[in-house]
Amino acid sequence: MNLDDFRLETRAWLEAHCPPEMRQPVVDDERCWGGRKWVFHSEAQRVWLQRMAERGWVAPTWPREYGGGGLSHEEAKVLREEMDALHCRPPIERVSQGLGLLGPTILRLGTPGQKAEHLPGIARGEIRWCQGYSEPNAGSDLASIQTRAVDAGDHFVVNGQKIWTSHADKSDWIFMLVRTDAHAPKHRGISFLLVDMATPGIQTRPIQLISGKSAFCETFFDDVMVPKENLLGELNQGWEVSRLLLANERGSIAATRSLAAERSLGLSAMDWVGAGEGGRLSDAGLREDIARYEVDMLAFTAAAERAGDLGAAGQAGPGWPSILKLSYAELNQKRLELLMAAGGTELLEWEGERTRDGEECRAWLRSKANTIEGGSTEIQLNIIAKRVLDLPGA
Ligand SMILES: Cc1cc2nc3c(=O)[nH]c(=O)nc-3n(C[C@H](O)[C@H](O)[C@H](O)COP(=O)(O)OP(=O)(O)OC[C@H]3O[C@@H](n4cnc5c(N)ncnc54)[C@H](O)[C@@H]3O)c2cc1C
Repeated sequence: MNLDDFRLETRAWLEAHCPPEMRQPVVDDERCWGGRKWVFHSEAQRVWLQRMAERGWVAPTWPREYGGGGLSHEEAKVLREEMDALHCRPPIERVSQGLGLLGPTILRLGTPGQKAEHLPGIARGEIRWCQGYSEPNAGSDLASIQTRAVDAGDHFVVNGQKIWTSHADKSDWIFMLVRTDAHAPKHRGISFLLVDMATPGIQTRPIQLISGKSAFCETFFDDVMVPKENLLGELNQGWEVSRLLLANERGSIAATRSLAAERSLGLSAMDWVGAGEGGRLSDAGLREDIARYEVDMLAFTAAAERAGDLGAAGQAGPGWPSILKLSYAELNQKRLELLMAAGGTELLEWEGERTRDGEECRAWLRSKANTIEGGSTEIQLNIIAKRVLDLPGA
């Protein structure tokens, strides 16, 4: 089918199958993450996920045999454009750990058995994954991880602690970095494991955030038995796997953002500042800042689109995930700063109907983490300096 016919067919299908409630701008608490423990916010959210999963469009470019849609990169772009035009929400958040991070890594490096076991659950939104990289003494210096996996015949025995594990308490599986050779140079003694969170010996303890929410956990492993077939990639080669996954993470934080599913900043600001002459935002200074932000965001979106095209053609240069991640983090922080400037002290209201229990204020506080999560801004700048600009080390 040519792309024009595909576009018409896609538009007709989305119009017929996307419930009206799933065409409203999405707020943070209504995003869909899926998994066994997921409680749908509405029947429309459940139906929308089910319909998209049946069509393979939760993971449009994955092969059909693993629950994907088998679409080409160009077809997937058309699907995204049509979803944006109709304001359809993503059925599962595209930055989720399974869909955005692990799935593409298993597609590249997994055994046929691992692909068959893990990909369909992600593509149907049935299994939620979390990421076990950081430890109390290993964040930016990730290769210093100390959680051990000891060879015990047909399985490993894992002991140690992870921290900042987003949504570990709500996840079904965890992918994690473990030390399998304590004597090798630190990058060489690491392996990458896939672990069922229901395995005896795993405990999660939530961490309270400044936003009042509790998105993180400490995760403890006490003599946890993990079958050897859950090793992704080669033994002691986990560092390479983790780098591929981190590139997926940084790329997906930025490149899969849907502009249309979110409310425009100008309209949101107008709720607080009010409209002046000609229906424009009444505060001229703020209007100018928002216009500048919107232009920067459009430029960013075009750059992310191009990076996606080059990536699909195997031509993306090194460092682009870091460039996108860095820019997106700064733009998102800017967006929320401007919104808070529009709302002033009223938007600081933590509870109450007008601010929907401080939704924007909580999002603003949450955005402080954008320049830390997925690798801090300083680390991205180091990567860009080395791999893109080829600058000499300090
Ligand atoms: C919202 C959020 C969600 C997260 N989710 C997860 C998750 O699901 N799973 C997971 O494993 N981790 C997760 N993390 C952890 C995240 O990956 C780490 O916080 C991050 O990598 C930084 O590590 P750190 O916190 O140990 O800080 P540190 O590494 O101690 O860094 C402290 C400061 O020093 C700077 N710094 C460190 N080294 C250098 C250097 N070489 N050059 C210049 N500056 C440097 C850093 O930029 C930072 O400003 C999450 C973090 C956040 C904020």
